[in-house]
Amino acid sequence: MDNIVKSKRSRSKAAVEASRVGKPSREEAEAAVRTLIRWTGDDPDREGLLATPRRVVRAYEEWFSGYNDHPREYLKRTFEETGGYDEVVVLRDIRFESFCEHHMAPIIGRVHIGYLPRNRVVGISKLARLVEVYSRRLQIQEKMTAEIATCLDEVLKPHGVAVVTEATHQCMTTRGVHKTGVSMVTSRMLGVFRDHAETRHEFLSAIGVRGGIVGPA
Ligand SMILES: [Zn+2]
Repeated sequence: MDNIVKSKRSRSKAAVEASRVGKPSREEAEAAVRTLIRWTGDDPDREGLLATPRRVVRAYEEWFSGYNDHPREYLKRTFEETGGYDEVVVLRDIRFESFCEHHMAPIIGRVHIGYLPRNRVVGISKLARLVEVYSRRLQIQEKMTAEIATCLDEVLKPHGVAVVTEATHQCMTTRGVHKTGVSMVTSRMLGVFRDHAETRHEFLSAIGVRGGIVGPA
């Protein structure tokens, strides 16, 4: 019973938010997919494509589920005391899938996170979750990298945060210049990682990125 009440409440909250940003109905979203199918030159009424708009709209709910989450609130509830641990914490190779906000094409890559805790640490799964929330939105890589760093910095208030993202952009590999094998690297260094070359290099060597890419060697 509690669950039903809760889900009704969260649905209505989502509905309020949806009307604020002018979110269309499911039917409108499916109609838009039919339009795009026609734009490709195909017939949305042929048998193989009949269920496609419904599937695409459902896939969008999964790919863009990050709009429903508030990572700050989530992290605030989940930190733990450090127990005296005062070395750099590094989590590398967190895989993510996102979509570029210019072409809505996939961006696929890895995020590496480091921070030097002051009083608080978070579990590994929470950091991975943080990446998931920000990646499941329309993004540019630079912004996503900065958002992850800023969120960790504001909630955990560590001595510093380092985030490096490496990714390939399918808008570049499958269209336009058609360059494969190119990955883009973005970084955001805050606190000690920005101010102390030694700490920054410790992080970069832990993730296997050459110092020259993101900071002075
Ligand atoms: Zn793009």
